[in-house]
Amino acid sequence: MKKNIRKILIANRGEIAIRVMRSCRMMGIRTVAVFSDADEGSPYLRHADEVYHIGNSPARESYLDMEKIVGIAKQANVDAIHPGYGFLSENPAFVERVDSEGLIFIGPTADAIRKLGDKTSAKEIAGRAGVPVVPGTVSALTSVPEALRTAASVGYPVILKAAAGGGGKGMRIVRAEEDLEGAFAMAKSEAGSSFSDDRIYLEKYIQDPRHIEVQILADSFGTVLHLGERECSIQRRHQKIIEESPSPAVDDSVRTDLTAAAVRLASGVGYTNAGTVEFIMDRDGKFYFMEVNTRLQVEHPVTEWRTGVDIVREQIRIAAGERLALSQGDVSFAGHAIECRIYAEDSANGFLPWTGRIEHINHPAGPGIRLDTGLENGSVISAYYDPMISKIISWGMTREESLLRMREALRGYEIYG
Ligand code: ADP
Repeated sequence: MKKNIRKILIANRGEIAIRVMRSCRMMGIRTVAVFSDADEGSPYLRHADEVYHIGNSPARESYLDMEKIVGIAKQANVDAIHPGYGFLSENPAFVERVDSEGLIFIGPTADAIRKLGDKTSAKEIAGRAGVPVVPGTVSALTSVPEALRTAASVGYPVILKAAAGGGGKGMRIVRAEEDLEGAFAMAKSEAGSSFSDDRIYLEKYIQDPRHIEVQILADSFGTVLHLGERECSIQRRHQKIIEESPSPAVDDSVRTDLTAAAVRLASGVGYTNAGTVEFIMDRDGKFYFMEVNTRLQVEHPVTEWRTGVDIVREQIRIAAGERLALSQGDVSFAGHAIECRIYAEDSANGFLPWTGRIEHINHPAGPGIRLDTGLENGSVISAYYDPMISKIISWGMTREESLLRMREALRGYEIYG
């Protein structure tokens, strides 16, 4: 059934709020932005048609406060809520809360988020869809002896991961049997404190892994298509910092298998809206399912540039109950796109997040350069949120050209203070 979306609340801040509002404007949709104390006067607010204060600076008291967000959505009389990434974007309780008010959540259903958000249940789903999964436990570990048995059967090194994990947190590599018991206790307590859910599971640790993910789009008529892969192997502390598409490590035959696996998995759970199926690839080019991110990703621009598809626009159209405007055959891929995430970090101090006022910033521009940011001169990077300053995306006919443009953009980037 087609629904009318005329006004959207963006339950987010910074660059992604701006990104979503751009697509809304191009679709003739009005936008509502929300801000915490720390974000008062932030550039993203100037992009919105209406602006509402939602609370104190800590995310718990603002961007994570479901009741406040739903309350403003009602007050502003919006039709839909776009969650961006992070915050409430993968919270099934929030989706249900939005549904219960008769509002549209721009994303998958609560059921799909719940099934795929739990990494162990997602692995089961992948297995059922005939998608290879990393050898290890498929359900949460209940005891140290069980962990020892599984580790012995898959072989060391292994990695302990939080079932409810995210953001690269709660992972522990175990290289030898004698270290497993201690690591088990630490991983469990870390999972409990970071995610209020201490279930952990175990996987074979893939050496020199490549992280390769597939962007998918699915409408509510059963059409699922993919927009190719992204290579996200350049990470720090298990967090992506540079992404590119296509992956230089994937040949056509692997690409066909990888994208088909992602589509099969999404079809199997009746997935709708945009999502990303993440895989890990070993040195021999064998890939295994890792997890699904049921939201728009930070690195979506590299895919947008190669395919020309506005992913946010498609998200909104799908949420409105429309059919995907394109078929797999219509998706074409051109050139090579790279994204660099620029962070405020103290490089002399282990790259810890850094806070403060940006005294001077001059974002790069030039042929084949896209810059997504929520900051300008005088903006403050606070300790409350992610310290990302911007995303530079370069495009070129070839990887070499894309790299040259990226280097030139990075060279010309001025950030002081
Ligand atoms: P999160 O949801 O916290 O981002 P992921 O499951 O996506 O966690 O893993 C993040 C990163 O951790 C991967 O991109 C990869 O670099 C590393 N990783 C995860 N599982 C494994 C594994 N089994 N072997 C090797 N590295 C892994």
